[in-house]
Amino acid sequence: MTRLRSMANNAPIMTAIASNLQAIHRAIALAARTAQRRAEDVALLAVSKTFPAAAVRKAYQAGQRAFGESYVQEALGKIEALRDLPLEWHFIGPIQSNKTRAIAENFAWVHSVDRLKIAERLSAQRPQNLPSLNVCIQVNVSGEGSKGGVAPDEAVELAQAVARLPHLRLRGLMAIPAPAQRTDAQRKPFAQLRGLMRQLNAQGLKLDTLSMGMSDDLEAAVLEGATIVRVGTAIFGERQKL
Ligand SMILES: *Cc1c(COP(=O)(O)O)cnc(C)c1O
Repeated sequence: MTRLRSMANNAPIMTAIASNLQAIHRAIALAARTAQRRAEDVALLAVSKTFPAAAVRKAYQAGQRAFGESYVQEALGKIEALRDLPLEWHFIGPIQSNKTRAIAENFAWVHSVDRLKIAERLSAQRPQNLPSLNVCIQVNVSGEGSKGGVAPDEAVELAQAVARLPHLRLRGLMAIPAPAQRTDAQRKPFAQLRGLMRQLNAQGLKLDTLSMGMSDDLEAAVLEGATIVRVGTAIFGERQKL
């Protein structure tokens, strides 16, 4: 498997972004072909957290439209600075109650819903003039690297409740597995998430999104059915520690 992170061209960053994007699209296409899937069925979310608006603009000029952010305050500044572009903003970070209004007002998608209380606030605070907020439920699949996410055996109940909220559109599931080196180890938690989505759909939900795969495991995720891969480092370079 290609190690996109080590391939990522860091300097000079503003000319590297377009070629990094190209390399990722090639990697997605290759993995999709191996899985006998269509490359068009795998969307690329460019994770721009910690990178400036100018880097997002560069990615836009290279054809990228969807961007992921993890920190509300930082994201709001970028969204404001890039109002002139038709971008689609996805919130992918942990959600504090006091940030739900800003998220509901400024994003098209939220990938990291793991509590009903947060989902209820997002629904209530979604402006009426905007389409429903697309949401994924973050699931703590085996070996999850982040602390976020609902336990798999609680995901069904949470999904049923979120699906009933009026101003949200439940699209699917998201996971951030613990890093693993080998492709077969990387595939396991992704397969688990795919199985969970199949189970939810068998119960009458209509989920179409598996948000899984990052710079180091996107091929494994595509092999297991990812419909959105969230890629930061392999596009923008290494992040400075905040
Ligand atoms: C930062 C982040 C990413 C991107 O990770 P990379 O390893 O830089 O590709 C993806 N998903 C989430 C939820 C993140 O916080």
